[in-house]
Amino acid sequence: MKSYKEMNREELLNELDLIKEQYQKYTDMHLSLNMARGKPSQEQLDLSNDMLDILNSHSHLYSLDNTDCRNYGVLDGLSEAKALMADMMEVHADQIIIYGNSSLNVMYDTIARGYIFGVGGNLPFSKQEKIKWLCPAPGYDRHFGITESFGFELITIPMTSKGPDMDIIEKMVSEDESIKGIWCVPKFSNPEGIVYSDETVRRMASLKPKAKDFRIYWDNAYCQHYLYDEEVKILNILDECEKAGNPDMVYMFASTSKITFPGAGISALASSLNNKEEILSYMTHQTIGHDKLNQLRHVLFLKDIKGIKTHMKKHAAIIRPKFEAVDIILKEELDGLEIGSWNFPKGGYFISFDSLEGCASKIVLKAKEAGVIMTNAGATYPYGQDPKDRNIRIAPTLPPLKELKTATKLFTICVRLVSLEKLLNN
Ligand code: PMP
Repeated sequence: MKSYKEMNREELLNELDLIKEQYQKYTDMHLSLNMARGKPSQEQLDLSNDMLDILNSHSHLYSLDNTDCRNYGVLDGLSEAKALMADMMEVHADQIIIYGNSSLNVMYDTIARGYIFGVGGNLPFSKQEKIKWLCPAPGYDRHFGITESFGFELITIPMTSKGPDMDIIEKMVSEDESIKGIWCVPKFSNPEGIVYSDETVRRMASLKPKAKDFRIYWDNAYCQHYLYDEEVKILNILDECEKAGNPDMVYMFASTSKITFPGAGISALASSLNNKEEILSYMTHQTIGHDKLNQLRHVLFLKDIKGIKTHMKKHAAIIRPKFEAVDIILKEELDGLEIGSWNFPKGGYFISFDSLEGCASKIVLKAKEAGVIMTNAGATYPYGQDPKDRNIRIAPTLPPLKELKTATKLFTICVRLVSLEKLLNN
């Protein structure tokens, strides 16, 4: 296809007429489709239904050490659940605390604890004059939302193909004592699917923060979420921090949300033994223990890391065709036009699309008016504001394949429409 940038005004106007016609056809279909959030489809959820029947009143309801899982207790989780999550997160079981169903809740809680009581014996965030947070972007809107809700100043850090820009991060954290944290999604980042290189992980672990209560908030949400048989390895940040003389500088988070059920999985935090002790000293006032029956269910159903990997291949078989369908349609409809670029990830839950500058919010609006909900433009940046108004997150997992194809085709029409209008107005 001829690039829009090479077309003269007349050609652009002809193309606009054509695309407007196509857009109208889709509007007339009165679609109601959703590509906004990274939710598993019903078919994916069904993969774990057997877990629901694994426990009943006749089951053995005791853990390996004979704890009655129906009763109170075991603050940091059953040892077999810790072993399972440790294998999944590639850390040691004694570094793990098992929580309830949501890792986002654990992240919120971790920051709230810092806000109320302080981190590592330092002054609570609430008592410090100013708190700043580093936010590699495009990134996960709910991360940014947590730190924004505490009134922290969010600082956008550009992403590179190897992870966040470490030159900027090293300089900032070593100079500014009010920087207390950084959000990281090291494997298949949300939304770009970027995997942090070994160099990025090592440099992250070797940071020399001016603030003693600076921590890396390492959200390993997609640690086992491959689309293909090929696995992608990242270095273990806990080990690297230890080697670099920063053993307490990282909190790692993960959950089984996109393995079993987002509404009823288990989540975990992994950190140094020092940090774990500190966290438990506060947690002991919050709960007598999380849901051990659910921990037992997960262990009986997934069994071990081999079980997790086998199970994740079933997810991949369902979602891979969806990612491929989106990619094929984007290529068919947009290749060569020079009005957008996108990634094709090897895992995770998203495809990240970059339009021409100043077009993303109009594209999302056009799609919405024709019945397709996308993630809000800007959501992938702190404060919901993409300075270049370019990035759009595509979440292919939830809609059935046929609907996804229709929604993606309409999306490309919106991209063409808004880009043509922009080029004609220049
Ligand atoms: N972290 C990332 C990077 C995510 O993309 C998501 C869900 N989209 C979550 C955390 C949410 O995790 P949970 O379900 O464990 O709260």
